[in-house]
Amino acid sequence: MGFFSRLFPGFGRPSSPLFSKSQGNGIWVYLECEKCGEKIKLRLSKSTELQRIEESSPNAFYVRKLVMGEKCFTRIEVQLQFDQSYRIMPDLCEINNGTLLTEQEYEEN
Ligand SMILES: [Zn+2]
Repeated sequence: MGFFSRLFPGFGRPSSPLFSKSQGNGIWVYLECEKCGEKIKLRLSKSTELQRIEESSPNAFYVRKLVMGEKCFTRIEVQLQFDQSYRIMPDLCEINNGTLLTEQEYEEN
């Protein structure tokens, strides 16, 4: 389990796997490159990278980004959506050349 979970038992929702983690002004998202299997930890800035989805109620956020790992030159195109608590909504995300991982999957080797 992550730092916050140890510090604050009950923090987060145990019911759904954590595909993202909110920390200060950042959100961590975990990805795997489909080509080479590299695991990539991506930090998104809430203030500069996330865009509010205007028509959504309650508020939701959107980000689109190209990500490149260090092991190959595959560009992973991510379109991610987050709810008002900055939790990723995996069903609404689209990822080309990669897949979303949970924090646990990222930490495992
Ligand atoms: Zn790769």
